[in-house]
Amino acid sequence: MSAGLLAGKAALITGAASGIGRATALAFAREGARVAVADLSADRAGEVAAGLRAGGAEAIALAVDVADDAAVAQMVRATVAAFGQLDCAFNNAGIATAAVGAGGVKIADIDPAAWRRILEINLDGVWYCLRHEVAQMRRQGGGAIVNTASIGGLVGLPASSAYGASKHGVVGLTRVAALDHGGEGIRVNAVCPGYVETPMTVEALGRRGSDILRRVPLARHAQPEEIAEAVVFLCSDRASFVTGAAWTVDGGYTAV
Ligand code: NAD
Repeated sequence: MSAGLLAGKAALITGAASGIGRATALAFAREGARVAVADLSADRAGEVAAGLRAGGAEAIALAVDVADDAAVAQMVRATVAAFGQLDCAFNNAGIATAAVGAGGVKIADIDPAAWRRILEINLDGVWYCLRHEVAQMRRQGGGAIVNTASIGGLVGLPASSAYGASKHGVVGLTRVAALDHGGEGIRVNAVCPGYVETPMTVEALGRRGSDILRRVPLARHAQPEEIAEAVVFLCSDRASFVTGAAWTVDGGYTAV
């Protein structure tokens, strides 16, 4: 068995074909985990998994839309079929307001369909993942789950009502899941990134990156690898007494 913080663990990551999810897939593999790389984009998930295998890790690619409960159930089944168990899950797939054409739109003006789509992916999707992962983890006697929230799940960000509601929902869901399943050996935490340089934020950081930086004590945006390191820790046995937490990795944005 390889050495590392996640040696021998079977892991599942959603939204793993890009940005924070992809960086975490690489970090998990480096730490000795077997990794199921799940994403809406089967092609890009396949490329990430192939890269992990080329580096000597065990990895599979899975196509999933996290807004589809049946597809999420199948994703968890496929992971367990491949690896025999599910020790770590990172429920990370999500979309920004701009992805549904609602970037910069205030509450009274948001299109109901855009609102629904963001909630379906960012909040319903995390619940679907949680319920199928927890079902597997309680059968095997435990596990660790991390959900991707955001600083937008802790404080209000302007013109992001659906995104903010979805991410506050993820923090709440994380806390309740920790209460409900702690007695079954299942830890559930959230990671709350600040602004990270990924394909999701290219447009927003290009438009108002310098305004945002004025609010970041570390005076820079994050790289996805910096979020991945927090997720590795939270999924590892080193975090054995950490559950129900909403961990900020935000360069101090919410410390003001
Ligand atoms: P990204 O766009 O680089 O990656 C997101 C991935 O999720 C993509 O590969 C995409 O195909 C996948 N995805 C989208 N919808 C999906 C669906 N319905 N089912 C399955 N996969 C789907 O974005 P990122 O910046 O890496 O964001 C990852 C997570 O981090 C999101 O939940 C996002 O809200 C959160 N987040 C990002 C930032 C940031 O600044 N980038 C900050 C805080 C939180």
